[in-house]
Amino acid sequence: MDEMGPLKLTPYLKENQIRQKVQAMGAAITDQFRNKDLLAVCVLKGSFMFYSDLIRELDLDLSCEFCGLSSYQNEVKSSGEVRITLDLNSPIKNRHVLLIEDIVDTGITMNFLRTHLMSRKPASLTTATLLLKPHALKVKCELDHVGFEIPNDFVVGYGLDYQGYYRNLPYIAQIQSLN
Ligand code: 5GP
Repeated sequence: MDEMGPLKLTPYLKENQIRQKVQAMGAAITDQFRNKDLLAVCVLKGSFMFYSDLIRELDLDLSCEFCGLSSYQNEVKSSGEVRITLDLNSPIKNRHVLLIEDIVDTGITMNFLRTHLMSRKPASLTTATLLLKPHALKVKCELDHVGFEIPNDFVVGYGLDYQGYYRNLPYIAQIQSLN
């Protein structure tokens, strides 16, 4: 959606591909945290759909927390600046934290979050992202669980937006006219 109306989308990852990947990631994370008390952190807004699907695949005792970050001001390229728009509501000191991101592009957001959360002394910090653009990375980024490695194209759907739209698509698509 832009001032000209809906944009042309090319489907990239189908619903069932995403579902299978989320199940596999859920199984691996369940194994990792068996018998541990987990705090699952959702990075708003883009991760909300992945987060809600992933935590339902975790056969663990866990609690949920949300934080809001923004690095893109309605643009398709990262501004390189990360702002906290919503901080966690409870302490993470001595908790096992699972940080759940939708997509890692330059890595700046994940890097910022990792440093920010580590300063609060969690018992452990594990990161999971559904999508990774390995060729876009600009900073070193420690990722524990990665769903799909994708090319350097802008994607929407399954929580990811373009100018606030397309988050509700159940699949992931590339925007043709931006490529
Ligand atoms: P990074 O800091 O790694 O460059 O960017 C991370 C954030 O940028 C993501 O959480 C997401 O909000 C946004 N982002 C990066 N690539 C894309 C993309 O292809 N599509 C959308 N919709 N957002 C993206």
